Parts: sequence; structure tokens; C-alpha cells
Amino acid sequence: MSDELRALVTGLVGDRADEWDRAGVIPADLVRKLGRAGALCPEVPVKFGGLGLSSLDNGEFTAHVGALCSSLRSLMTSQGMAAWAIQRFGSAEQRAHYLARLTSGELVGIAFSERGAGSDLAAMGTTIRAEGDEVVVDGAKIWVTGAGYADMIVVIGRFGDGAAAVVVPVDAPGVKVSRVANPMGCRAAGHSNVDLHEVRLPAGALLRGAGQPLSMLVTSALTYGRVSVAWGCVGILRACLGAAARHAKARQQFGKPLAEHQLVGRHLAELLVAEQIATRACEHASRCWDDNSPEMITAAVVAKHVSAGNAARGASSAVQVLASSGAHDGHVVARAYRDAKLMEIIEGSNEICQLVLAEHALAVAS
Ligand SMILES: Cc1cc2nc3c(=O)[nH]c(=O)nc-3n(C[C@H](O)[C@H](O)[C@H](O)COP(=O)(O)OP(=O)(O)OC[C@H]3O[C@@H](n4cnc5c(N)ncnc54)[C@H](O)[C@@H]3O)c2cc1C
Repeated sequence: MSDELRALVTGLVGDRADEWDRAGVIPADLVRKLGRAGALCPEVPVKFGGLGLSSLDNGEFTAHVGALCSSLRSLMTSQGMAAWAIQRFGSAEQRAHYLARLTSGELVGIAFSERGAGSDLAAMGTTIRAEGDEVVVDGAKIWVTGAGYADMIVVIGRFGDGAAAVVVPVDAPGVKVSRVANPMGCRAAGHSNVDLHEVRLPAGALLRGAGQPLSMLVTSALTYGRVSVAWGCVGILRACLGAAARHAKARQQFGKPLAEHQLVGRHLAELLVAEQIATRACEHASRCWDDNSPEMITAAVVAKHVSAGNAARGASSAVQVLASSGAHDGHVVARAYRDAKLMEIIEGSNEICQLVLAEHALAVAS
């Protein structure tokens, strides 16, 4: 990973993550600055203006951002996922057009979920239809990360018997973006609901490959998102481990540092193991991605499932070690506790990951 990139983010975030979390917003010029540096979708190839990082290098960078600010990391995940969908499903012209914009400061979200279609995306009701030289989008998406900052949204919907992805500018007539009020965590990630009423766009907004099965479109985009979220969880674990270890060394109770009380030491040991296991699972998933291995989809689900669970339990342990010192808004472990819980819901909840992995286990066994 480029040290320059790491230093840029460290400098820009500084110690402001808690302030942004409480305000529910990251300064938009800062987000755009990172976008212009290619830091929000670092795997976009150099020929499209990106940094061309490998998944492994982007992963370590994502963990670094995740340790600083999960809201910013969430924006990276959605920008990277949308960029990947465009790279994977766009025509040569669409890739050149949109990816250049996404590496020069424009921001994007990606919308799958609807009120009636969360875990069960096959229940999606949004429609995309071609009409002459136009494409028309109708539907209502919810909880779109980054939509509160975005210039455009990659919207997934039904297209005839299959599915399609279309790039919708947020200022197109018929688009309404409204912020989700008071999210529990990642509060500055711009989560928004997006209503799409008879939105008419030039046919060039419809990504090539329209009509393919919904499951293929969704799995492809989510695989990128799962690896990214998993690395973000590694960052949460590193931040929690650091905070818990520093506190356990510094605070004395019963005449000695907390760290010398073995039950406190156990929390630290478990945090370390959680971080190490999550890191190894993420490294494996990223190597599979970089090698275009057939194991990639499963490895991404394993990494996401392990890392999200470990981050949620790890953040809880860190709050336990800090106790009253960490039990308030504005402390890194309190923020991690709220942010990490959400990681068990997104990009395939714990239960959905388990269902996918059970299916894989059965397939391997037979
Ligand atoms: C912070 C955050 C960011 C998000 N960002 C985005 C985004 O950028 N774009 C986007 O499109 N969406 C986004 N979402 C939505 C997210 O993808 C959905 O919340 C997620 O898919 C779960 O859907 P749901 O909330 O409707 O829960 P439901 O599907 O209603 O599930 C409720 C519970 O039931 C369980 N469950 C459901 N079905 C089964 C089953 N068959 N077997 C066992 N258990 C089951 C689930 O695991 C869960 O625990 C975001 C959500 C959050 C909280």
C-alpha cells in the first residue's frame, strides 16, 4: 500500500471521526479530495484514472481507514463496489466515461435494498425498461450508503425476465434522496433512501449486460463489498485492541494495572486472536480475488462473516475493558461497538452468510 495514501487519509481524518459521527456528516470537500486522489475506489485500473491497487493492498488500506473512521470506510466500500459493477458490467465506453468521473472526485452509491427486499433481493420491485433511446427507472431503494453525498447511484432493478444496473444522476427529474434519520452506527456515511419515479435517462446509462440473472449481478457486486467490509472490520478490531491494551496498562485497580488482572488479560488475548483470524481470512479472500480464483465468492463470504462477528464481539470486549471510561459517545470503543454491530447486517447478514456457507459445505461434501 502506498505510504502516501495512508498519510493522506491519516492527515485528513486526524482525530475528527467522533466529531463527524456525532454531527452525522463528513465535510464533503474532504470526501471529494479523497475521491480525486483515487482513495475511495483504489482498485480501479490506472488506465481509467485509478490507482490500480491489488485487493490485498487495498485491503490493508481499507483496514487503516476502518480503524480511523468506519463512516469514511463505508463510503470507500460503496464507491468501490459501484466502480467494480461498472468495470464488470459496463461497455468499454461506459467504463472509460464513468470510472474517470469516479476517480476525479465524483461520488457514487449502489442501491439494491428495498422495503420488501432486504435479505431476499429476489423480491426486488424496482423496474428498469428500455423505451426507444431512453431507459426508464421506477422504484424505491432504502439505506443506500453514501447516497447523501453522491452525484450518481448505480441502481439494480428488474429488466424484463432478468436484471440490470443503471447509473442514475441524483439530480435527474424524478429522483428524491432523503437521509435515513439517526442511524445507529456509521452515522456519517450518508445512508439515504432513494425514490425513483419515472426517471428517464439516455440509453447509455444502462450498463451493458442488461437482462442477465439478478443473482449474478448481485453476487458480483456484493463479493467486492464483502471483502471491503471484512477489511474494515479488521480496522475496527485493531482500533479496539489498541484502545483496550493502552487502557489496561494505564489504569490501576486493586493496586495494579488492569492488564495484570488475568480476566482482563483474557479480553486482550481474545481481541488479538479475533484480529489475527479476521486478518488471515481477509488476506485469503483478497488473494483469491487477485488470482481470480474460483474460491473467491466463498472466501469473500467467509472473510465477511468471520470479520464482522469478530468485530462485533471484539468491540463489546473493548467496551468491557474500558468500562465507564469508554461508555460514552465520542470514545473510539463506543463508536466501534455501534459501527461493528451494523457489519453483521450488511452485505449479507450473519444468517445469510451462514446459509450461503451451508450450501457450499453441502456442495463440497457431495
Ligand atoms: C448501515 C447499513 C448500510 C447499508 N447500505 C446499503 C447500501 O449501500 N445499499 C443497499 O442496497 N442496501 C444497504 N443496506 C441495507 C442492507 O443491505 C439490508 O439491511 C440487509 O440486506 C438486511 O435486510 P433487512 O434489513 O431488510 O433485514 P431482513 O431481510 O428483514 O432480515 C431481518 C433478520 O432476519 C434474518 N433473515 C432473513 N432471511 C432469513 C433466512 N432466510 N434465514 C435466516 N434468517 C433470515 C436476517 O439475517 C436478519 O437478521 C444497508 C443497511 C445498513 C444497516
